[in-house]
Amino acid sequence: MKARVKKDTCIGCGACTVIADQIFQIGEDGLAEVIEPDKTELEKSGEKIQEIPEKDQENVIDASESCPTGAIEVSKE
Ligand code: SF4
Repeated sequence: MKARVKKDTCIGCGACTVIADQIFQIGEDGLAEVIEPDKTELEKSGEKIQEIPEKDQENVIDASESCPTGAIEVSKE
């Protein structure tokens, strides 16, 4: 499972950083982002996308469902 925050949709409420604090943080721009983005993906597309360890997947899904603006994108690949 992979996750990313759509910066153009996030309002920086911080909910995801409480629900899945191992994965999400508030960045310097005041918006959420994944803490350990895949470096290859970052260089290729400029997107901060993180592979989510199994132990954190439930929290990431919770965070995604709780995000008031639907800014957390989760993919199963
Ligand atoms: S819960 Fe959603 S809107 Fe709030 S900081 Fe996280 S991604 Fe942004």
